[in-house]
Amino acid sequence: MASVISVKQKAIDEEAISSSLAAAAQPDSVRFADLMAKAREAAGLDRDEVAELIKITAPAQLEELFHTAAEIKQRIYGNRVVLFAPLYVSNECVGNCLYCGFRRDNDLCQRRTLSAEEIVGEVRWLIDHGYKRLLLVYGEHPKNNVDRMVEDVHTVYNTRHDGGEIRRVNINAAPLSHEDFVKLKPAGIGTYQVFQETYHRETFEYMHPVGPKANYDWRVTVWDRCFPAGIDDMGLGVLFGLYDWRWDLLALLDHARYLDSTYGVGPHTISVPRLEPAYNTPLASNPPARVSDDDFRKIVAITRLAVPYTGMILTTREVPEMRRECLRLGITQISAGSSVAPGGYTERNPNDEDARQFEPGDRRPLDEVMYDLCDQGYLPSFCTACYRSGRTGRDFMSLAKPGEIQHFCLPNALLTFKEYLLDYASPETRRIGEQVICRHLDSIETQALRRETEARLARLDAGERDVYF
Ligand code: SF4
Ligand code: SF4
Repeated sequence: MASVISVKQKAIDEEAISSSLAAAAQPDSVRFADLMAKAREAAGLDRDEVAELIKITAPAQLEELFHTAAEIKQRIYGNRVVLFAPLYVSNECVGNCLYCGFRRDNDLCQRRTLSAEEIVGEVRWLIDHGYKRLLLVYGEHPKNNVDRMVEDVHTVYNTRHDGGEIRRVNINAAPLSHEDFVKLKPAGIGTYQVFQETYHRETFEYMHPVGPKANYDWRVTVWDRCFPAGIDDMGLGVLFGLYDWRWDLLALLDHARYLDSTYGVGPHTISVPRLEPAYNTPLASNPPARVSDDDFRKIVAITRLAVPYTGMILTTREVPEMRRECLRLGITQISAGSSVAPGGYTERNPNDEDARQFEPGDRRPLDEVMYDLCDQGYLPSFCTACYRSGRTGRDFMSLAKPGEIQHFCLPNALLTFKEYLLDYASPETRRIGEQVICRHLDSIETQALRRETEARLARLDAGERDVYF
């Protein structure tokens, strides 16, 4: 109990967040210029600085904020966009979160937990379409325990299909105990995601009335059990729309800073889902704290400036146009072609809304998204090299913070995208994709690295696969 209290005081200080938000004023032009100058140093922003940026409304300042976020995004991540797909393993849940299609009281939800054979079927489908990174998603249910997760991770990694395989498995599930994280570690997962949904305790308790998820402290302290168990890629998130986004954004960034200062490793990713309608779930259609498109852009841009080296994830909750805008402002990873119902890839049924967690806003298949990314000047990437080379946690951050990780990211993006073009792309995507590869090869700064990347691309052309730096 003592650790819960001390963590709560250090990670999320509700009074300090409220005071900071109340005290902050829209910065005048001199102060705003100072804030943008600091943001450009890419060393992050503190709570009060974020609160000031939250308050800006002047169109010229908003424009400058977006411009600076785009500049930082470009400088650190270039044009690369990492792609993944969620694999919903189970929508069985003892929780009754008021906003979720899987909530216990939704008796119209078709419940299902995939068997190992069904997971293999879904994974084969995903491999067949070019995916390399998966996120396993579980409802909170006693049967979705750590033993089950370990088995599923092995099932995914052991599934080979037509020369392809999944190379990184991440998990989005309930917070585990330290002992369970210790059990999970050898399975070789990438990131473990637990979203706090809202950091505002009173709202959290209202939204999560029953089940293990009703315990705010157990959830907010998850990383204090996860990191010591050796899983150092941690994924944070807020479900925007449950409580005032301004407050939740400050809390989310406080949580990120807490991890950085406590463990020397900030979150690997921050996700920014926005509440979307869900089948037979009235609250999801009427968000208690609806976030406008303008405010959502602010959330993405401010997060980019506050934690420049943290990957930012946007899912298919958002419509294509918003996804394009957010990629420019700071998003580094997106899901694409996603099904958000168990079994939804192999049994693709456009009317399966009664098994989905929410209504997706972007239903385009992966290849269409890949074409669109190329058309917008981006370089799609399925890179999984860091995790497989042991560059995680502190090792990863020691490369990421000085910007050195870029020397790996760009060549690896080119190699994994090339694999996609050779094995899975439509002729149109292949055509535009090859142009994207040529352009980005030219942008590799050192000649030796460019030559080595060309040599490895040639090995892919010759039939070799899974080539990376
Ligand atoms: Fe269950 Fe998670 Fe949905 Fe809550 S949000 S009802 S815990 S699946
Ligand atoms: Fe991510 Fe590492 Fe690949 Fe860069 S090299 S895209 S940081 S896995």
